[in-house]
Amino acid sequence: MTTKWVFSYHEGDGKNKQLLGGKGANLCEITQIGLNVPPGFVITTEACLNYLDQPEGKLPDGVMQQVHEQMAALEQATGKQFGSASNPLLVSVRSGSAMSMPGMMDTILNLGLNAQTLEGLVTQTRNERFGYDSFRRFIQLFGKVALGVPDELFDAQFDAVKKDVGVEADIGLQAADLKEISQRFLSVVRNYTGKPFPEDPYEQLEIAIKAVFNSWMGKRAVDYRREFQITPEMANGTAVNVVTMVFGNMGNDCATGVGFTRNPGTGENLLYGEYLTNAQGEDVVAGIRTPKPLQDMAQEMPTLHTQLLDLRSRLERHYREVQDFEFTIEKGVLYCLQTRNGKMNASAMVRTSVEMVREHLISEEEALLRINPQHLEQMLYPRLDPSFKGEPLAAGLPASPGAASGQAVFDADRAEQLGKQGIKVILVREETKPEDIHGFFASQGILTSRGGKTSHAAVVARGMGKPCVAGAEGINVDVQLRKAFVGGTVIKEGDVITLDGTRGNIYLGAVPKVEADFSDELVTLLGWADKAARLKVMANADTPNDAARALKYGAMGIGLCRTERMFNAVERLPIVIDMIVADTADQRQAALDKLLPIQRADFKDLFKTMSPRPVTVRLLDPPIHEFLPSEQQLVDELEQLRHLRLSVQGMEVLVETAKLLAGSKGETLPSSVHEMGDTRLVDTVITRKEQILKKVRALREVNPMLGHRGVRLGITFPEIYTMQIRAVLEAAADCVKAGIPVAPEIMVPQVCTVQELKHVRRLVQSVHQQVEATFGVKVNYQFGSMMEVVRACMRAESLAEEAQFFSFGTNDLTQASFSFSREDAENKFLPMYNDRGILQDNPFEVLDVKGVGRLMKLAVEWGRSEHPNLKVGICGEHGGHPASIRFCDEIGLNYVSCSGPRVPIARLAAAHAQILLGKKGNAKG
Ligand code: PEP
Ligand code: MG
Repeated sequence: MTTKWVFSYHEGDGKNKQLLGGKGANLCEITQIGLNVPPGFVITTEACLNYLDQPEGKLPDGVMQQVHEQMAALEQATGKQFGSASNPLLVSVRSGSAMSMPGMMDTILNLGLNAQTLEGLVTQTRNERFGYDSFRRFIQLFGKVALGVPDELFDAQFDAVKKDVGVEADIGLQAADLKEISQRFLSVVRNYTGKPFPEDPYEQLEIAIKAVFNSWMGKRAVDYRREFQITPEMANGTAVNVVTMVFGNMGNDCATGVGFTRNPGTGENLLYGEYLTNAQGEDVVAGIRTPKPLQDMAQEMPTLHTQLLDLRSRLERHYREVQDFEFTIEKGVLYCLQTRNGKMNASAMVRTSVEMVREHLISEEEALLRINPQHLEQMLYPRLDPSFKGEPLAAGLPASPGAASGQAVFDADRAEQLGKQGIKVILVREETKPEDIHGFFASQGILTSRGGKTSHAAVVARGMGKPCVAGAEGINVDVQLRKAFVGGTVIKEGDVITLDGTRGNIYLGAVPKVEADFSDELVTLLGWADKAARLKVMANADTPNDAARALKYGAMGIGLCRTERMFNAVERLPIVIDMIVADTADQRQAALDKLLPIQRADFKDLFKTMSPRPVTVRLLDPPIHEFLPSEQQLVDELEQLRHLRLSVQGMEVLVETAKLLAGSKGETLPSSVHEMGDTRLVDTVITRKEQILKKVRALREVNPMLGHRGVRLGITFPEIYTMQIRAVLEAAADCVKAGIPVAPEIMVPQVCTVQELKHVRRLVQSVHQQVEATFGVKVNYQFGSMMEVVRACMRAESLAEEAQFFSFGTNDLTQASFSFSREDAENKFLPMYNDRGILQDNPFEVLDVKGVGRLMKLAVEWGRSEHPNLKVGICGEHGGHPASIRFCDEIGLNYVSCSGPRVPIARLAAAHAQILLGKKGNAKG
């Protein structure tokens, strides 16, 4: 049996996107539900893969025969004939894979035109201008896509004719001018390829089908798939759609446009889009003429506007998802040329999904699953500080919301080059083309001087969630000079500019930005997420400010408070240094006594802010030398101080220099200038620095990350942990006394054996007894262990005897499992490991499920075998990563903890995890 490579729109399965591509499948589907689609057929992705596999570039056997049969059916349906000189059938040849890749592959329009069919078209439409306009478009597109002729060669001829004739806009060209252009274009092709332009329509069709198939492996498409991680399981090969041409450029009762069933920028439930009368589809997308908003159609073509509204609601009712559709009106008849799910920014996606639940179009679960947790990041993007009052330099269309600053660059390659060096850039172009895609990836935002809100730049930037200002016509971009001119101002490459994609403004310099707010719809959606999720989402927060922010993001508690961060404040550091350099336990205790009230106040604030939610306080973790200056710094400072003492007498110099030197690590300076003039004071500073240097040398370790830190510190200097434990419990007792419910948790870092836990637990118990007795209140707390050392995981069963909870510190656990330094690996070999596929992902970002994850799974099982109700969470960076969260759900963790702004992402990811787990279970069951 011969393979069926080709399906008409009446027979193709609208659900089979893998085989027919998204566009083909949707066209089958909307044809079959009775929308007015131009007759057409689709050649399968299987044919594409088969063709790409054949070394000699032949289409698989049977493809062209089936194409001939389908063309005969098109002829029958339209009453036209392919290649006919009197009533010619013209077709478009369009790409379309299972995943939408807008503009990444090729499309050819008006195929079938040659000298004879052109005559037919002209006679039939009685419109010579239209005929030649179609012809020149076809030659250029076919020349570029199928024959590889550079666009610039055509553009040069086109501009030359326009100049000769003295017109600015294409619309000013007459039939004779377009005829001249067509002749010149034919010569361009002949000169470039060494062969005449193919005349035989079937030869054209075969070449075009192959060209579209080839575009699957084109650089743009390959780059796009890599960037968006589109795997062969998601989309393999492109289908080819051959569709009867309908014309939006046959006169003023014709139009072409693109529409969204709801506003893709805001989500507002209103038809949104643009159209042009007497134009062909490419004109709208390419931004060659500035299109009109669809609302204008209500006046210009009222009947068709009503039909368009009807089309909008039929599409939405059928797909129950916002649709992005293309249409053409030919001589007063409306055709739907394609539809697909609308790409929207996150806030529009959230709003439309929530509203569709309220409109009973979809369920809460569907709404949740519709939103990629990672995309919520866009909603948390910065926007311009509202108090900023500066005047914009220029304005354009607000094409993709958000705000960004960066150096202006004028081509995609340069953007990529600088972007790779970590430099923030804004890509500035007259208009963008699909081949600029790598520049988009590298840029913070995109600015174009031409094109509408559905232009390439706008669509791609929105999809990526990057701010874009499009069609800023007051800006004159000169790519050659690498400059843009705005009135009297010149933006040179490297000048910093700011884009406000929400309002469409451009500013010189970097404008201050503020965090984005939650929309009401996001709050609603996340409420549904919390209902659906099993995992709790906590925040990593070290200060009351962080905690308050995390609470706003919906954090259900604090899963990690890194107490060392509290020590770094300028006024505290000298006390911490006193504690470290102390020679005796008494001296150390004196410093700790000063720190106690400070820490207690910190914890009290934190508990109050989070009340009644749990707050997990981790006892001091880093090696204490981290609080001291480096050895080199101290040596340099001492040298200068000694030099100063010998040679400088002048009081002012002394004051200035000593201020400089003593101030670098938060040392307190005597306030009196008079005292400062005294060289004895320099001696005091010298003595102090010598003391610190001695300590720095004594504390030096070859591998500090594996050294004297975490619980090891707590055991060797029990007074430090005792102070912290006392601060936690006293703060809690104070709150209890004040009637504020609290749930403190004390967590021990770097644990590797149960003995360590036992030791610290005894400290906790003893302080707890004292605090309860002193304060006369009952203080409940939990005691737990970080799981960030491999041995701790292997001994989970035993640790669970002492711990009420575990929290996986997957930053250190990843470091320990791979033996990759978490400080260095990402800047050294990891990028190459990723590029070469030695490791799929960066394990410090994406939890390594196969290795680290396996260890976690075992530790959870072993821990719970001892202590079935053991609470287990994660507080490493992975706690905010959607795929890692899914894994945490699967292995039965109770909570994830991540940085505040990632909390909404984690809440949604936790809901996805449960919903998808349910679906998996159902599928199995
Ligand atoms: C961890 O190691 O994952 C962790 C949370 O602790 P830190 O990042 O502070 O070492
Ligand atoms: Mg750690």
